[in-house]
This record gives sequence, structure tokens and C-alpha cells, in this order.
Amino acid sequence: MQITENQIRDVVRQVLTEIRTPGPAVTNGDAAADCGCDSQKTDPCSCDGHSFAGRHGVFHDVNEAVTAANEAFQQLSERTREDRKRIIDHIRRISVDQCVELGTMEMEETRIGRLEHKIEKLKTLGEKTPGVEFLKSEVFSGDRGLAVIEHAPFGVIGCITPVTHSLPTITGNAVSMIAGGNTLVVNPHPSGKRVAAEGVRRFNEAIYRDMGIDNLICVIAEPTLETAEQIFSHRGVKMICVTGGPAVARAALNSGKRAVVAGPGNPPVVVDETADLDRAAQAIIQGAAYDNNLLCISEKEVFVVDQVFDQMMQAMERAGAVRLSADEIDALTRVAITTVGDGDQRHDVAAKEYLGQDAAVLARGIGKSVPETTELLFGETDEHSPFVSVEQMMPFLPFIRCRNVDEAIELAHKYEHGFGHTAIIHSNNVRNMTRMGRIMDTTLFVKNGPCMASLGLGGEGYLSFSIATPTGEGVTTPLTFTRERRCSLIDDLCILGRAT
Ligand code: NAD
Repeated sequence: MQITENQIRDVVRQVLTEIRTPGPAVTNGDAAADCGCDSQKTDPCSCDGHSFAGRHGVFHDVNEAVTAANEAFQQLSERTREDRKRIIDHIRRISVDQCVELGTMEMEETRIGRLEHKIEKLKTLGEKTPGVEFLKSEVFSGDRGLAVIEHAPFGVIGCITPVTHSLPTITGNAVSMIAGGNTLVVNPHPSGKRVAAEGVRRFNEAIYRDMGIDNLICVIAEPTLETAEQIFSHRGVKMICVTGGPAVARAALNSGKRAVVAGPGNPPVVVDETADLDRAAQAIIQGAAYDNNLLCISEKEVFVVDQVFDQMMQAMERAGAVRLSADEIDALTRVAITTVGDGDQRHDVAAKEYLGQDAAVLARGIGKSVPETTELLFGETDEHSPFVSVEQMMPFLPFIRCRNVDEAIELAHKYEHGFGHTAIIHSNNVRNMTRMGRIMDTTLFVKNGPCMASLGLGGEGYLSFSIATPTGEGVTTPLTFTRERRCSLIDDLCILGRAT
């Protein structure tokens, strides 16, 4: 058997790690203290023998995490694309095989959403997130030779992940980013930090055992806004990818770094007079009730033309949703919507106690009893209900009666708030579909299906849980996290034409 230089280097690294038991996590940014070297603290550590191998990606200090991720990036850069695939296969295998344990952990920690969907999300992301096969080179060949455009990594990517899908977002980001040749440092939402750290630890440990590279995915175990800011401004971080609401989207856009921003949405649905109402009702329930409406792409408010409004409400009941009366909706608004901010900044938001809770919990909050299996509550409101303008992320959907499809599309446009995220129509009139698509100008536009069909789940296309909206990359893939490099050969290797 022939042993390559890389393999020798990995064995040496592993042996060094084993004889140098890593010290406890330090919080003062002193990377040198932890690796046992005597060098002065620098950023990144300048010590040649420095290694964080054996930490399996869990860090308390941003500087250490970025240093470790940079070290892992250097090692990954020496490996083949086939090795990247093998690394990603470990992440996929753990996400799929351990989805019940990790999904349950996520549910118990975050206490929002539905267990079956926490489990399914991990499995689906493990199976379907695009990997190295997505990396294709482009070629221009002609009279003056050959130009090949290839896709190179950025380096360490700083990631911010939401509480709505803590480990799932890390899983999807890790697969895409490592496929592109990058490594990552993640600041998870504080309410999903434990499952984030445990998932990352398991991924790294499996990769390290098989491939001898540790810390490809680093996570901050005690994330705060300050650690997020440190990641944004760290010179060892080459790119930012944030998945979250308006505040973090703004912070990333102001970071001064290249940022991929997967921002908030408030997806409207239009139902016109030509729609298949039973199909529409089933699709709306499937999308809006998924994980108790936590998906950023989930149906959040429904505009129905007057001509079929009453039939649509009946179709929703036939499909299993429970209708609330006007008084019940008022009561739900009082408990489930609250206001934050002062002066000009004062605005409605979903109350934390109801965010991502079961429909039965929402009903109990207003003294109503519904079967525990109820997936969705709904009811008629006017456009001024806070449930229309707020990204409620709970399983109650407001239905608004509109004079005609023009008014429905106009209101859909208004309440999407210009996020450019997701919009949905149920219709059999292609003119209405086309008109709405043009006016909404959203990243995802779904016709006659549930929101998730637009991510290849019951529709065509591919999957990601980071859909970059304000920065325009759309459903992120490994290519999103690469930079173009062009290699040109002048006058040769185009083999077409007359021999000279
Ligand atoms: P959130 O905005 O409260 O938090 C998201 C992350 O940002 C967390 O890690 C949080 O700690 C961090 N954060 C918040 N403010 C910050 C700041 N000023 N600086 C640095 N970090 C900050 O959102 P959430 O409740 O965790 O997740 C739900 C939101 O995320 C919704 O708005 C949803 O639409 C959006 N989301 C978007 C996508 C997408 O692909 N576009 C996917 C999932 C969720």
C-alpha cells in the first residue's frame, strides 16, 4: 500500500492530539493557552504546532473557533472532491440515522413546532441537500483557445441560525458549504444552542475518526449577540450567511463582509374563482400547519375572491381545519399578538408563549376545546387584523374576503411587505398566475401546491433551509458559497476546425 504525504501528515496530527490532551475551553480568546504552545496570542495563532483537533467543533470563544475552522479549511483544501463527498456522507448519515434522537432533543430544547416534523426535517435535509455533484465547471472553447470557469471556496463562513430550525439549518449549511470546500463557524440561536452543539459534535467526531480532520463545523456553545458581532467582524471569517428575522438580516447587511442573507417572509396565498378548492384547502393546511407554521415559506394569510369565499371556508373545514368565530379570533389576537418597541418603532409581533404551539394550545388559550390532533385553526378577518401583517409562526390563518382577483393580488403584495420571499396562488387561470407572479416578484412563487413543494418536497427542484432573499442568491446550494476562478489557455486545446 502506498502512503501519501497527506495520510502521513494526518497520522502525525492525530498522534500529537492524543498525547496532548486538550485543556478546558477558555473564554478569554487565548488560543495559545489551550493548544499548549508558548507563542503569544495572535489572531490566528501563529504557532506551527497549534491544533484544536479533538475538540469536535464545540467552542466557547470565537477566536478559537475561527482559528480551528481555518486550520480545518487548510486541511480540507489539500483533500480531493471525493473526500468532501465522504465527509458530507457522514453528516447525511447522522442526520438520517439519528433523526429521532436529535429531533427529539431539538423539540425538548426549543419547545416550539411539532416533534414529527423536527424529526422529518433532519432526515429530509440529510437526504436531499445538494452536495458536491452540484459543482460544475463552465467551459468556453473557440478560435482563441479555452477558458474554464471553476468554483473555489471562500474559506471560513460565519453562520447565524434560527431557533425555528436550529440543527436542521446547521445540517443544510454544513453540507452545502463543505461541498463548496469551505468550513464554518456557527452562532446558533441561544434557545437552540444545546442541540446545535451536540449535532456538531457528532458530525465532527465521525468525520475526524474517518478522515482525520476535525472542526470543519465549529459552533459557539454559549452564543450571544456579542459573539455574533465578533464573528461578523473577525478577519479570519471570509463570508457571512445568516438565516433569521429582520434584525439579524440588517446586522449582516451592515457587517461590511460579503453576506448571504436568508431573511424573513410573510407568504400570502391567493385563491381565485377558478381554483380547485378542495385541493387548495389540503395544500394550505399541509403548508401552514407544518411544524406549527414555523417555516419561513409557510402560508401566513389567505386572500380569497368573494365569489368562492364561503365555499373555500367549507373546503377548509372538510379538510380538517377548525374555524374560529369573529369573537374567538378577537380573543386569540389579545393573547397571541403583542407589541414591542417604542414610538415609531412600535409594532405587533407574535407572543412568545404561542409561537410554534399546537392548534389545540392556541384554542385552549381562548377557552375553546378542539381535538389534540387539530392541525390548523382559521377564520375570517379583514386586512387590518395583526394576523395578516405579522409573521405569526403559529397554526392560525386569517382568510380575507376580496372583491376580485385584482384586489386579492394587490393585498397579497402589500402584506408580503416587499421581503421578496414566497407567494402562493391556487388558480386554473394562467393569466392570474402570471400577473401575480410578476407583481409579487418573490424568490419562490408556488402555484397549486403547498409551500414546501417549491423546495422539491412534492414538487420539482432542490432543497435548502437558507433561502437568500434580500441578497438574491435564492435557494442556497454549494455554488452559493463559492467564488469563480477562470483558467485560460490561449490558442490551444480547442480541437475543432482545420489542423494547422
Ligand atoms: P431571529 O431573527 O430572532 O434569530 C435568528 C438568529 O439571529 C438567532 O441566532 C439570533 O440569536 C440572531 N440574531 C438576532 N438578532 C441579531 C442581531 N442584531 N445581531 C446578530 N444576531 C442576531 O429569528 P428566529 O425566531 O430564530 O427565526 C425565525 C425567523 O427566521 C423568521 O423571520 C423566518 O422567516 C426567518 N427564517 C428565514 C429563512 C430563510 O431561508 N429565508 C429560514 C428560516 C427562518
